Amino acid sequence: MSEQHIFQAETQQLLNILIHSLYTEKEIFLRELISNASDALNRLQFEMLTNDAVQDAQAELEIHIEVDEEANTLTISDSGIGMNREEIVAGLGTIAKSGAKAFIEAMQDKPESAADIIGQFGVGFYSAFMVAKQVDVVSRSYRPEDEAVKWAATGGASYTLEAAEKDARGTAVVLHLKDDENEFTREFRIKDIIRRHSDYVAFPIRVGDDEEPTNKQQAIWRRSPSEVEAEEYDSFYKMLTMDFAGASHHIHMRADVPMQFYALLYLPGSAEQNMFSPRNEPGLKLYARKVLIEEYNRELLPEYLSFVQGVVDSEDLPLSVSRESIQATRVMASLKKTVTRRVLSELKRMAKNDRDKYLSVFQEFGAFLKQGLVIESEDRSDLEPLLYFQTTHDDDPSKFYSLDEVVERMPENQDDIYYIIADDYGSGARSPHLDAFRQRGIEVLYFTHPVDAMLPMGLTDFKGHKLVSVDSAELDLDEVGQVDEEAATPEAPLETDSFAALQERVKARLGERVSDVRESRTLVGSPARLVSEDDSGSRYMYRINRLLDKDYQLPVKALELNPRHPLMHNLSGLISKNGDAGLIDAVVEQVFETALLQDGIHPDPSSMAARLTLLMQAATGSASADLPFADVKTVISEPAVNETPQINLSDLEFEDGDSEDSTPL
Ligand code: ADP
Repeated sequence: MSEQHIFQAETQQLLNILIHSLYTEKEIFLRELISNASDALNRLQFEMLTNDAVQDAQAELEIHIEVDEEANTLTISDSGIGMNREEIVAGLGTIAKSGAKAFIEAMQDKPESAADIIGQFGVGFYSAFMVAKQVDVVSRSYRPEDEAVKWAATGGASYTLEAAEKDARGTAVVLHLKDDENEFTREFRIKDIIRRHSDYVAFPIRVGDDEEPTNKQQAIWRRSPSEVEAEEYDSFYKMLTMDFAGASHHIHMRADVPMQFYALLYLPGSAEQNMFSPRNEPGLKLYARKVLIEEYNRELLPEYLSFVQGVVDSEDLPLSVSRESIQATRVMASLKKTVTRRVLSELKRMAKNDRDKYLSVFQEFGAFLKQGLVIESEDRSDLEPLLYFQTTHDDDPSKFYSLDEVVERMPENQDDIYYIIADDYGSGARSPHLDAFRQRGIEVLYFTHPVDAMLPMGLTDFKGHKLVSVDSAELDLDEVGQVDEEAATPEAPLETDSFAALQERVKARLGERVSDVRESRTLVGSPARLVSEDDSGSRYMYRINRLLDKDYQLPVKALELNPRHPLMHNLSGLISKNGDAGLIDAVVEQVFETALLQDGIHPDPSSMAARLTLLMQAATGSASADLPFADVKTVISEPAVNETPQINLSDLEFEDGDSEDSTPL
């Protein structure tokens, strides 16, 4: 007796799209069905390691394909794990994959692009409906007590389920082909598709009465690298990840001593997650003696290399243990070490031999490596040479330099490496902190990626050179390079007394918001800057907190004033004349907030608009005493709490390098 079930709404939508698709590469349905069969065989193999009670235990692990020209049917059978009634309902009645949901959403936005989109993602079992008007699935689970079941659907809103006769373990998928799809009943056509799309499936695929399997079966990673064509590497990557943009690099390893293993690893072309990818979890596919042990293994590489995709196949992992206890084995530990070393050395080599290629990889995955440097400090020396930065060297944002290159260029009397933390290259380049460095021709690294704000916690020094922030209060550059002060700044500095009065007035106005107000020895073209007296690596945590959308507190810094700047001269003049207090206060506030803005840490830049308007009114002639300066809100900040903040890296999602709330100037 058969009963009717209604498909989940998403499944109906997906079926609808597939049935009506004009996609030209419909043959991929076979790849999808074979891939399901191969998964089922893999899972059975794993089950057999620990379970004695398996239906039909002697049956060979294989995939069999049968065509019937007369009936216009194509049958794909496997002796895999099979499905019982519940499993068939769960597996073939609903869509669990988020990728499929994303696919449907994309299709709703852009139905005309169906043909492009289908090819880009694993449509799985349902792709059968591109060529079949009816699909029957007869399955028997590996559990001896489960009964065989038959599922059938015609692509409408429902499917039927009924009991079936089947002694052999596994699943048979029978496609009743559409009338114009009878090409798929020709054996030669089927064999051709298998060779092109499924050649390295690990189980024999036999067509019709053939004794010989059609596929080579040799797993690509077990072959000798010299025999594998570039195209094969490419198509294996696409098959594995559904990332049809391709990988930027592959690493094929084979080792015999001290352990025997094979690995085929890929660096994806882009860090952007392919929304259709069924492989949307990090981790490598782990095989032990050709048996798939784990789909996403995260123990084989450190977290900071989790963007690497691929397969590791070991001959030395014990087969008879659970997934959990495999993680604890010595073999795993030494596999991890070997694989990690190899990826790092490959990156290093690429950086050396093919800079452009490396930089494009770094562009995508540099943030991972930087996080690694902060978190896995024992790998620091391997990661440092992999870091590249924009610098002030030739004022060209398209150029990136390694720490080594920067150190090589350093003049003899320079000890420290300087960096500036900024939201982006442009605001870094305009920063008042760079005045003194430019004047002396000292190179400064730009730390502009959001993750760079935590780099100082791990990257404290490089080859004996301390890394020092350009906004450090203690900075003394006169040792490093001299400037011709007269030529550089024609304006004379304020008299000592005048400066003291200015200093006092500014201090009184800003109060707790600054830790000190002092004279700057480094500013040239800018009236003021904020410097930090905290030298700890975590001093930039507030930037991270801002990214995380946590309440972040402005760090309290010291305000340095440039005694030569015309604005300071004017302000000093106003103060000595006992000029309009409202205007003086407004200028002081604006100097402070401009400094915050230039450091990319102004909490609310648009709040300055009211004051700026009044200042413009005053500058263009309104009597400043009549202007309501006192009504303008100021930036409030409580003194920052001095505790080491906790970061959880997984909270961080870094995008292009600009933080979302960078100042809209
Ligand atoms: P995916 O294979 O990506 O999970 P599919 O739509 O192709 O998505 O298949 C859905 C589910 O149906 C599978 O996850 C699996 O549990 C089950 N399934 C499909 N084909 C088979 C098969 N030949 N043997 C056993 N189970 C299968």
